[in-house]
Amino acid sequence: MPHAILVDLTECVGCGACTTACQQVHQFPEVENPTMDAQNFTTLRAIETEDGEVYARQMCQHCQDPACASACLVGALEKTRDGAVTWAANKCIGCRYCMVACPFDIPKYEWASNNPKVRKCTMCYMERQLTTDLKVDAEGYVLDRSGERYDIDGHNVKAEDRDMIIELTTNADGKRASACSVACPMNSTMFGDRAALIGEAQRRIKDNPDTYVQKIYGLKEVGGTSVFYLSSVPFEDLGFYTNVGTENLPDHTWRVLEKIPDIVVTAGVALGAVYWITNRREEVRKFEQDVKNQRSQKKA
Ligand code: SF4
Ligand code: SF4
Ligand code: SF4
Repeated sequence: MPHAILVDLTECVGCGACTTACQQVHQFPEVENPTMDAQNFTTLRAIETEDGEVYARQMCQHCQDPACASACLVGALEKTRDGAVTWAANKCIGCRYCMVACPFDIPKYEWASNNPKVRKCTMCYMERQLTTDLKVDAEGYVLDRSGERYDIDGHNVKAEDRDMIIELTTNADGKRASACSVACPMNSTMFGDRAALIGEAQRRIKDNPDTYVQKIYGLKEVGGTSVFYLSSVPFEDLGFYTNVGTENLPDHTWRVLEKIPDIVVTAGVALGAVYWITNRREEVRKFEQDVKNQRSQKKA
């Protein structure tokens, strides 16, 4: 059963429980009002509107046909049958092709690491598979069904952390869910069956035509995604990427890559060198700025 996330922004009170839960489940430092980076996979922006403040959550869209995965040379990103687009730490080489390909500007680089990779939200995929019946080895690490140490994003899970991760990813009704949805006190962020959540979003819009703009963001964007938003304010006013089209992403990816051969070719050589030979973060930073400039020019 494919899963998805529905965020009803009309219910969001901007409490930040979702951003904190995401930091906690990954054991990242807790930061208030984070910006999207390699240790913060979801953000909240407060936006003034005529009707008061609205909070815009952002996270990976978990695209149905993800451009990040099609651009990844080593298969580190994968669309699963679960709906989540997962990331494999043991495969990622930090080349950053996924960052160029993603039309939502989601994957982020680990600037502070000596072995930098690119990180993003995984819809808590591995966290949701963790269960209490898994065995633990003599050194206190949880083992998966094949007897290997249970790995979440490149970290072996210790038995002492298992209960915390399970608690953060279990709903009040005992079902497993993303940590951000479990933490949301307003049920603004909902996790569940993709088809059921689309139905719920359609019902809300139909029953409350004066409350919502007539659009489920994420339903058609880039051929469809697994993260949907409802809003009372046009999505362009919230800074959402509304010009990404409705084509599926691999097509988009290759067209984007064709249009910027200078960047891609330079990146292929330069970033390979960055990863394999030196630690020239400033050159990588410049590359990121070049890509951002390219995107701004395209938007303008
Ligand atoms: S939003 Fe970007 S990072 Fe997330 S699945 Fe889609 S292409 Fe990949
Ligand atoms: S689904 Fe998990 S990884 Fe993604 S934003 Fe929510 S808590 Fe973070
Ligand atoms: S936890 Fe829910 S209500 Fe609080 S900021 Fe996140 S989405 Fe909004």
